Amino acid sequence: MPELPEVETVMRGLRERLEGRVIVRAMTHRPDLRWPLPENLQTRLTGARVTGFRRRGKYILMRLAGGDSVLLHLGMSGRIVLTPLRPNQPTPHEHMVLETDDGCRLGFVDPRRFGSVDLVPTRAEERHRLLAGLGPEPLDGGFTAAVLSAALAGKRTPIKAALLDQKVVAGLGNIYVCEALYRARLSPQRSAHTIPGARAERLVPAIKDTLHEAIEAGGSSLRDYVRPDGELGYFQHAWKVYSREAEPCDRCPGRPACPGVRRITQSGRSTFYCPRTQR
Ligand SMILES: [Zn+2]
Repeated sequence: MPELPEVETVMRGLRERLEGRVIVRAMTHRPDLRWPLPENLQTRLTGARVTGFRRRGKYILMRLAGGDSVLLHLGMSGRIVLTPLRPNQPTPHEHMVLETDDGCRLGFVDPRRFGSVDLVPTRAEERHRLLAGLGPEPLDGGFTAAVLSAALAGKRTPIKAALLDQKVVAGLGNIYVCEALYRARLSPQRSAHTIPGARAERLVPAIKDTLHEAIEAGGSSLRDYVRPDGELGYFQHAWKVYSREAEPCDRCPGRPACPGVRRITQSGRSTFYCPRTQR
């Protein structure tokens, strides 16, 4: 499932290729994904100039000259594929196609259909029902130790679960929460209410650095954020603890006492951490 760094990389790829272009043709191949598509989607997109992009949490907003924004969410399995224009042969699970005035074809592919596409007035983006409840953007300057401390005060859930709550901070998922807690040397099982203060001062930069590194890895491993097959924004990233059960973490080699990365289940999902250095 794409998390914030992957979505950011997809957004940058879209910006690179589509900003300033006119959508000359828009097609949808079914009436709904996770939710119904707007009935007027094809008409509203056809002829519109793309003026810019932004990301909010795991959502991408594509702004159009007429005052609409297209809200895209990749869900569990959504992908965006950019190719040169070709005779229209929809690929399997391709639910939306946009063609631009410079001969680019954008396909939104989503086999499991947990993704979504919606329209929202650009001036009211933040009031869209999917965005209105989101917490702060982790990479914004406004996401500070004080802000995180306030959000966690009195919470008795494990810090792992608290960070997955999109109201606490937007865009984090299972992988990067594990990685950020490792970097901050905090146990994923620690109660969230013990984080405010000095531990939040460690955790906030750990979250930002983890995300920045992953975004940079995406940018440097993909040409213009696009894979050779045209798919945007997915990349191989070396995780420090995620999916590394029983391996020594990179803080522990040569330490006989190190039991290796441990995997536990929290809220039905795998957590990976180093029991020696995360407390
Ligand atoms: Zn270790």
